[in-house]
Amino acid sequence: MQSAVVGFPRIGKLRELKFASEKYFRGEISGQELKQVGKEIRKESWKWQKEQGISFISSNDFSFYDGVLDMALLLGAIPSDYKKLKLNELDTLFAMARGYQKRAGDVPALAMKKWFNTNYHYLVPELGKETKLTLSGTKPFEEYEEAKEQGVETKPVLLGPFTFLSLARYGKGAKARDFVTDLIRAYQEIFHQFSSRGVQWVQLDEPALVKDLTADELKLFEGLYQQLTEKKERLKLLLQTYFGDVRDCYDSLIQLKVDGIGLDFLEGRKNLELVTKKGFPQDKLLFAGLVNGKNIWKSDYEKVLGTLKEIQGHAGQVVLSTSCSLLHVPYTLENESKLTEEIKAHFSFAREKLEELKELAFLTECEDYTQEKEYLANQRLVKAKRCFQNEQVRVAVEGLTEKMLTRVPDRAEREKIQREEFQLPLFPTTTIGSFPQTKEVKKNRSLYKKGEIDKAAYDKQVYAFIAECISKQEEMGLDVLVHGEYERNDMVEFFGENLEGYVFTQKAWVQSYGTRCVKPPIIFGDVKRSCPITVDYSVFAQSRTKKPVKGMLTGPVTILNWSFPREDISLKEMAFQIGIAIREEVLDLEKAGIRIIQIDEAALKEKLPIRKSDWYSEYLDWAIPAFRLCHSGVRPTTQIHTHMCYSEFNEIIKDIDHMDADVISFEASRSKLTLLDAIRDSGFETQVGPGVYDIHSPRIPSLKEMKGTLDQMLKKVKPDKLWVNPDCGLKTRGMEETLPSLRNMVEAARLVREEAVRGK
Ligand code: GLN
Ligand code: ZN
Repeated sequence: MQSAVVGFPRIGKLRELKFASEKYFRGEISGQELKQVGKEIRKESWKWQKEQGISFISSNDFSFYDGVLDMALLLGAIPSDYKKLKLNELDTLFAMARGYQKRAGDVPALAMKKWFNTNYHYLVPELGKETKLTLSGTKPFEEYEEAKEQGVETKPVLLGPFTFLSLARYGKGAKARDFVTDLIRAYQEIFHQFSSRGVQWVQLDEPALVKDLTADELKLFEGLYQQLTEKKERLKLLLQTYFGDVRDCYDSLIQLKVDGIGLDFLEGRKNLELVTKKGFPQDKLLFAGLVNGKNIWKSDYEKVLGTLKEIQGHAGQVVLSTSCSLLHVPYTLENESKLTEEIKAHFSFAREKLEELKELAFLTECEDYTQEKEYLANQRLVKAKRCFQNEQVRVAVEGLTEKMLTRVPDRAEREKIQREEFQLPLFPTTTIGSFPQTKEVKKNRSLYKKGEIDKAAYDKQVYAFIAECISKQEEMGLDVLVHGEYERNDMVEFFGENLEGYVFTQKAWVQSYGTRCVKPPIIFGDVKRSCPITVDYSVFAQSRTKKPVKGMLTGPVTILNWSFPREDISLKEMAFQIGIAIREEVLDLEKAGIRIIQIDEAALKEKLPIRKSDWYSEYLDWAIPAFRLCHSGVRPTTQIHTHMCYSEFNEIIKDIDHMDADVISFEASRSKLTLLDAIRDSGFETQVGPGVYDIHSPRIPSLKEMKGTLDQMLKKVKPDKLWVNPDCGLKTRGMEETLPSLRNMVEAARLVREEAVRGK
């Protein structure tokens, strides 16, 4: 049986691309040097795939920032603001990705959004009336040739036209249909270029097909592919889907003149049924996604081979594939020296998944695979009883009552009580939690991690950072302060490290956006808090000021969503286990005198099922209560904040209100404040702090700009509900941008406050 990989990670196995890009941004290396790093990363991943005998290896899955952005550039979808900068190709890409504020001009970055239900982010292409889509680059051709020179025949990967049009944002008076003709022409030109270079297969990624499709969308999709397949020359097309099933378009899909269809049989719950009930054309290859591209557990060979057999009974030619790109898992287990062999044996990262593909492909060829040593070893492992089981925790989850999920008194009542309690000014200013992780902060952590300093010396430094952070905030005149989160490098890893049941990797980085990577901890067993986690830091911070300092926690849904979850118990059960742990921490903070507690649910929207029909039953029905479990035990005077990033939650705005926090802050600047309409229209009750500026970009917004933003916000939010804050934590920024930006923000708040008071 042949094997395929949808895509491979590209940040480098030790994040080489991240470090090189950041050097490039600081002007320490040239563009040429940066490109060389990219080349080495590609070379190694092709080599690994070739070594494991993968039949379909991808090229053009590499990117200096993001594949959707690459596609926009390839199609010439560059908004005029960036064109005016007259930068070279690489710098145009970075300007669109990160914003630009240098000699040539001042332009914010494109909007950034979460990639379907993952923690990866893509840049949103902008298509306006003036946009003319035409083939404008050579990247996929060059990377194909590059692989070929290394003796590797690849299938170039492109974002498919349907998904491209679905993800794009349209300017005034423009809509998807206006771009179809040019788009098709551009893809055909690309196909022609591929053909002339001897490319055999091209993979078109169409994850947008797993969403609920309207009749119009379905028509658009059919139209695009009918035209597209007319002139594909000798080229073979693989239409690749992932992250779900294709129930809305299966009938059209199997009639297309494509040569292969990639289906995800792990997240795509209905795909198997579709194939077995409706059949699959004999003249097409079915790329069966059965090795999980999103989780790090070894496959259960019994399950994979069983499903494969079933599929083979209905499709003529089957290729064993990954369920999606391996971008969402770390590179390799090889760099993990601290995990015990017993634990490590259960894991499989990108490189190890290649071995699994090889073994599985081999087993399919065996007469009786159940007798083969690879199979037997796998079954011994996956069926064995694991460590970190905790009966007590399971009983606690079973014993949860509705009362423990409900806070009293109701929010309106609490709002009155808390106004009395805190006496905050109109439009209170605050930040989301973290302050820049400066060189000194990182140095302190790395010395501690290397064992060069002890915990006491480490903490002494952390306390010094906190003290300085508090005095900076007082100086700037912020109203509700934070301690700065210097003790944590990551909002989830930090909690995981302090909870039983979690295990950690050293180098298992996964790309989140651009050069930003996360190292998700792994839920290995039942989760339990054994002692207070943040209390000392928060108490110290509060002791340095009379202003309230927010206790800063991560919520259960986010901890779960940003961890690699278990596959042997439900997500709901894991969320409640973590919820109990956070609840204990909340109550300890309150007992220690912390009066405002923020429980971040940055990633709540992320795992919202792609299909609406699954939203409640599969997710929200437990996710929202798991959050309430954390705070329902506090006194009415204790103010609960939460924070969410990026996502558009217009459609679940009511559910967000049902989290029953007192205040919520969220990203708004990059998604251009559309959320505020939903807030106004839904009669949202929670007080809100829509981000006044974008912290994902290094530019410093002016006072005027932020004052303007606040004026806009006040058209939609009642004055007594509005908080003023950046759109996310400041840890990825430098102090040199942070302080002037915050000063401008505080001043902008003061100006609108003055106007509001004068206006009364
Ligand atoms: N409190 C966190 C911080 O400020 C929130 C981060 C996030 O939303 N991703 O860093
Ligand atoms: Zn955030």
